[in-house]
Amino acid sequence: MLDPYYRTLKGFQDIIEKEWLAFGHKFTDRCGFLGSVDSKEISPVFTQFIDCVWQMTQQYPCAFQFNERFLLTLHDHVYSCQYGTFIGNCEKDRLDLRLAERTYSLWGYIHKYMNDFINPIYLKENMATKRSGLLFPNTSPQVFRFWRGMYNRFDSGVHPREEILDTLASGKEHSSSLEDHIRLLEMRINDLCKRMGISEDVIQRKLQGFLSMDSLDGVLLAESNEENCGERLTSTSLPLTKSFDSDNNHTAGKSDTESGFDESSSQLSRSGFEDGLGSSTISLTGVLGNSEPLTRAQFQVELSSVAVDWKPLRNVQNCSCAYSFEHFSKKYHCWKCGEVFCIRCIAAHMPLPGHFPKRHAPVCKSCYTQLHSISPIHEIASHVAS
Ligand SMILES: [Zn+2]
Ligand SMILES: [Zn+2]
Repeated sequence: MLDPYYRTLKGFQDIIEKEWLAFGHKFTDRCGFLGSVDSKEISPVFTQFIDCVWQMTQQYPCAFQFNERFLLTLHDHVYSCQYGTFIGNCEKDRLDLRLAERTYSLWGYIHKYMNDFINPIYLKENMATKRSGLLFPNTSPQVFRFWRGMYNRFDSGVHPREEILDTLASGKEHSSSLEDHIRLLEMRINDLCKRMGISEDVIQRKLQGFLSMDSLDGVLLAESNEENCGERLTSTSLPLTKSFDSDNNHTAGKSDTESGFDESSSQLSRSGFEDGLGSSTISLTGVLGNSEPLTRAQFQVELSSVAVDWKPLRNVQNCSCAYSFEHFSKKYHCWKCGEVFCIRCIAAHMPLPGHFPKRHAPVCKSCYTQLHSISPIHEIASHVAS
């Protein structure tokens, strides 16, 4: 309540390490891990604490970096004893049992699946509270809610069909994937236009939205008619988007002067009204470190490697492996095909050819196999970009 840091994932870990573990909360006794524990010692103190935190997250939905799944996971693993973190009654017990050497830490697991535990509407700093980071929870009895997610989690009938925060989180991921895809496509358009001799200025104005795609197509069409360049250019190298396809096979492979686009394009640039936009241009050749044009096949790999549509989480009951999703089991999207999978069916996080900058995105098993058979140029690209 006093310090926003302790409402982050890292800060919450710190507070548990400090106030519960280091301070000597008797987890083994309180949770009754052993049959030999005196039943009078057993008490759900930690569960009460987690419940209190959950009540606060209900009153301040934007103040906590973690979500309900995080609290449930933490709570469940205190009792599961799968990790060594909460075993023993005090620090001395943990040293005597050599838990650090013999067990894994829960925090490592939490860190690995961090994205699953992030509250998508978390506001950093003090924006959620507007009172210098302090929380003043309402303690009127009628404000406290029954935590269905904790105490009724296996009653499938009582939960909403769609978890709003999960849907939000997946929407955020989807749009960030699309943004990276757009960035790459802009680079490709840029490069394509350059190879066709259109001036940087015109390209930039188009990318910034000052010119419509139609007007660019118009320019290309007019030029190709005037110059009749379609016949002169080779049709072997660059891929064409649909709009370019519609007007013959004019592709790149020739320099600006050869293709004869220079004059008309400089006229176009004179009519421009935005200077300096060209400086932000990142060209395909710059990224790849060579001037080889992309082949049509490579471009198609890029286009097909990013799912434009993602399947909605709403009605997905089962994974393709027949695993039946419970209310709190996290559903994952494959960023390549857009289908929904369980954690086990997400094969790997790997860079997608259709993204710029390259970063590791989750993909399903079949998409992983497909991506692995792609041409080496993309691997070079991802290596350079990363
Ligand atoms: Zn897939
Ligand atoms: Zn599965």
